[in-house]
Amino acid sequence: MPSRPSTPPTTDDAGREPLTASAAYVHVPFCRHRCGYCNFTLIAGRDELQQHYLDALELELSGLSRPHEVQTLFVGGGTPTQLRPALLRRFLDLLARWLPVAPSGEFSVEANPNDLDPTCVETLAAAGVSRVSLGVQSFQPRLLQVLERDHSPESALAAIERAHEAFPSVSLDLIFAVPGGSFDDWRRDLQIGADCGADHISTYGLTFDKGSAFWSRRERGALNAADEELERRMYLEAIEYLESRGLEHYEVSNFARSGHRCRHNVNYWLGGNYLAFGPGAARHEDGRREVNHRSTTAYIRRMHAGQSPVAEWEDLGPRDRAKELLIFALRMRAGVQREWFRNRTGYDLDHLAGEAIRAHVAAGRMHDDGVTVQLSLEGLLVSDAMLVDFV
Ligand code: SF4
Repeated sequence: MPSRPSTPPTTDDAGREPLTASAAYVHVPFCRHRCGYCNFTLIAGRDELQQHYLDALELELSGLSRPHEVQTLFVGGGTPTQLRPALLRRFLDLLARWLPVAPSGEFSVEANPNDLDPTCVETLAAAGVSRVSLGVQSFQPRLLQVLERDHSPESALAAIERAHEAFPSVSLDLIFAVPGGSFDDWRRDLQIGADCGADHISTYGLTFDKGSAFWSRRERGALNAADEELERRMYLEAIEYLESRGLEHYEVSNFARSGHRCRHNVNYWLGGNYLAFGPGAARHEDGRREVNHRSTTAYIRRMHAGQSPVAEWEDLGPRDRAKELLIFALRMRAGVQREWFRNRTGYDLDHLAGEAIRAHVAAGRMHDDGVTVQLSLEGLLVSDAMLVDFV
């Protein structure tokens, strides 16, 4: 049972409980086209909706009533840099007004390499963006074509160089296990990523998600997933190689040079609260989870009609919150310290999940030194499947 007494919430002038989140996510749903592997919340080829989206976003943000300073602000998509220049400036002005980032804070924006021209860089830098995350995915022209990406390796490298000149932190996304991609292709991608001085690299094995074109093509037998053993080797190579190049493997899929971890995502994994705005955006405040309508047009319509953008919500009890924290925190390579967990949740880790921990330790998927439990290399390879045992 929880042993930590909960503090009664205080209210603001309007009688509402104040927001405690020091992190915020804003979703920009526009993309030029939908890449074959993508099933994210986005609307492709509908840039005429950008103005309406911004009007709706302004309505949602104004629901805050007053500016809410955050330590981390993450703008994701979709493709935030798909906003036309004047609209990107309006968007950033809205964020500065409603979600100012603390002076020591982190302000991340996802960007398409093709969009990061000098004007875009200048606009983002002037708005105080401190971290750019580039959707590079691969440096091999053949694999970029398979992934249906619209940029070339050359434009990615040019964007990385420009980003380094303007932003304190530059992150790259790289995808492995792309159909037709070899181990050597992946090794080259890792090498170029490290050579170009990326401060942070996120690596993802290609997944065939329902709703994506790749999923349908695989169902029809028109596309084959990479061999599982090759995928394992690629993941292990990422860990070994990037660590050898000075990028610490700090989370299942993420690597960072010293001082360049993504603070916004670390807050997710360590169970912090976060606000969220825009279509499909998910927020969490003290056990209350909410997700906005995923359809951009429904989101715009509802905001203009004075309706709530929220489509789904649930209230998690203390035990469910503790389990959820465990599942997310185990994604960190540092693992979960028993004392930290008890202080955060009021639950004893061994009472809550002792049986599953013992089973995974016995199977070699976890290490347990009596103080901290953490995923082993074998556990990292099957983390998504094994963490379900902690639900
Ligand atoms: S992968 Fe990125 S650029 Fe491609 S459709 Fe999805 S969100 Fe847009």
